[in-house]
Amino acid sequence: MKKQFAVIGLGRFGGSICESLSKQGMEVLAIDTNEDKVNRFANVATHAVVADSTDENTLKSLGIRNFDHVIVAIGDNIQSSILTTLMLVEQGVKHITVKAQNDYHEKVLNKIGAHKVVHPERDMGVRIAHNIVSKNVLDYLELSDEYSIVELMAGTTVNGKTLIDLDIRAKYGCNIMAIKRGETIDVSPSADVSLLKGDILIVIGADSDINRMEHALF
Ligand code: ADP
Repeated sequence: MKKQFAVIGLGRFGGSICESLSKQGMEVLAIDTNEDKVNRFANVATHAVVADSTDENTLKSLGIRNFDHVIVAIGDNIQSSILTTLMLVEQGVKHITVKAQNDYHEKVLNKIGAHKVVHPERDMGVRIAHNIVSKNVLDYLELSDEYSIVELMAGTTVNGKTLIDLDIRAKYGCNIMAIKRGETIDVSPSADVSLLKGDILIVIGADSDINRMEHALF
C-alpha cells in the first residue's frame, strides 16, 4: 500500500515537500488555512483541503492519526506550529516532522515530542557557506555539532593516487564512504582504488579532521 502523508502549511517549504512527495507517487493530503494556496495544490496533491490545523476536531475529522507521516510546515506562526504538533503527538501520529523557525522553537518542538525537527534555512545557510569557502566542497551535511558528511571534488593533488597512497584514515581520521564517478557510485571503495580528477568523494568524519584533509588534499 502507498504511504500516506499529510502536509500542513503550503508555503515555500511545505509546498515543495508536497510537490516532491506527489512526484514520487506518494499519497499526499495538503492542508492550509489559505484557500488560494489550497486551490494551487488541488492538482498536485491527492487531496487538498482548507482547514485550520490548530482545531482539534478538524484534525480528528481529517483522520490525521491514520497518516503514516505528517509534516508541519507552518512558517511564521510559531504558536500554531507548536499547538498543531502537540495535538498530532496527542493523537498518536507515528511520524511527525516539523519545520522550526529558530532555536527556541526547535527546543520546544523536541520537548513536546516531534519526531524530527528540521531547520531548512539554517541548514542550507551552513551548506552554502561551506560551498562558498571551498569550491571543492559540493555538499555538506551536519550530523552533529562535531561530525559531518561532505562531498568533495577530487582535484589534481589526488589524481592517480590510491586511498592507500593518501592514507586518509590514518592521517586525517576520516573515512571515504563512497566515490561517485559519472553515473556510477562505488560504495565502500577498496583501498587500492585510484582516484581521478573530477571524482566526487563522500567523506564522513569530525569537522576538524575533514577541514585538515580538505586543506591538505583538495
Ligand atoms: P514558508 O517560509 O515555508 O514559505 P509561510 O509562513 O509562507 O512558510 O507558509 C506557511 C503556510 O502555513 C501558509 O500558507 C499559512 O497559510 C499556513 N498556515 C499557517 N497557520 C496554519 C494553520 N493553523 N493551519 C493550516 N495552515 C496554516
